[in-house]
Amino acid sequence: MIILLKQNANPKQVDNLKNWLTDSGYSLHESQGSHHSIIGLIGDTSRLDIDLISSLDVVEAVRRIQEPYKSANRKFHEDDTVISVGDAKIGGGHFMMIAGPCSVETEEQITCVAKAVKKSGANMLRGGAFKPRTSPYAFQGLHGKGIDLLLKAKKQSGLPIITEIMDINHLPLFENVDVIQVGARNMQNFELLKELGQTRKPILLKRGLANTIEELLMSAEYIMAGGNENIILCERGIRTFETATRNTMDLSAVPVLHKLSHLPVVVDPSHGTGIRDLVKPMALAAAAAGADGLIVEVHNDPVHALCDGKQSLTPEQFDDLAHAIRAILPHCIREAKW
Ligand code: PEP
Ligand code: MN
Repeated sequence: MIILLKQNANPKQVDNLKNWLTDSGYSLHESQGSHHSIIGLIGDTSRLDIDLISSLDVVEAVRRIQEPYKSANRKFHEDDTVISVGDAKIGGGHFMMIAGPCSVETEEQITCVAKAVKKSGANMLRGGAFKPRTSPYAFQGLHGKGIDLLLKAKKQSGLPIITEIMDINHLPLFENVDVIQVGARNMQNFELLKELGQTRKPILLKRGLANTIEELLMSAEYIMAGGNENIILCERGIRTFETATRNTMDLSAVPVLHKLSHLPVVVDPSHGTGIRDLVKPMALAAAAAGADGLIVEVHNDPVHALCDGKQSLTPEQFDDLAHAIRAILPHCIREAKW
């Protein structure tokens, strides 16, 4: 349920209302939007007397929220959420370009890619240290050593870093990681999500291979319910009957998510297509559809990559993509700046 306050509401009376609501057992989610001040109520509001609240001097209107996600809901927070990572921002007109290899392999590889993508304007370096592989015999990542190498590359390039967590017991290793990624396969690992809700680090939450948009938002809600509101949603393609691409990029998810939620949305055209040549067209399409950022796999030697070489751009191809994105962003529907 949300309570829209009148524009000139008396602050003392608003405080009285908030105290009464918290004493009645509700968690309050306050948001100062460009048009309204909103108090969002979380809890079982079925027995709350809407007529009584509506009749208060300070209240403009009271509305029930049908959707099961509350904190992630745009009705609770009408303006876009902007998340800061180092000097970079994402959301509300700030575009973020995340680039780097699928997996961290060697110091040389990750620092070389970091410097190259930084030169092309990337705002954040990606690189998997814990890899969720379909086969137990495939390269599983360098684990703690991979994170150490990412931190070295961060130092050398000045780029903040993002890497995937698979097990909450590894959280201490992520202390100096700037953004924690929850991969598609863990989107509904609810215990992991709850623990990440206790941190205050930004989380990039990928949509599961076979999950609906509502399920993605419910997973964001799990993290937000713990108090961590720094969530970046990521569309990375879903499973369909189509086999021409690794996944089917659901680009309509971008405007749908923006309508339903205030959280920033990035698109991953690398996993979304699985094919290098398709990354640029789909990245451009994602930007045109209003994505707040991209996460793109880039490798200095894709042919010899230990993971996902087929979908990785070379640094030169990434530079070309970066130029193309810069050229269209001012004309995209959300007119983001990068
Ligand atoms: C990744 O980004 O490295 C990754 C494993 O992606 P996803 O979880 O989307 O498959
Ligand atoms: Mn990958």
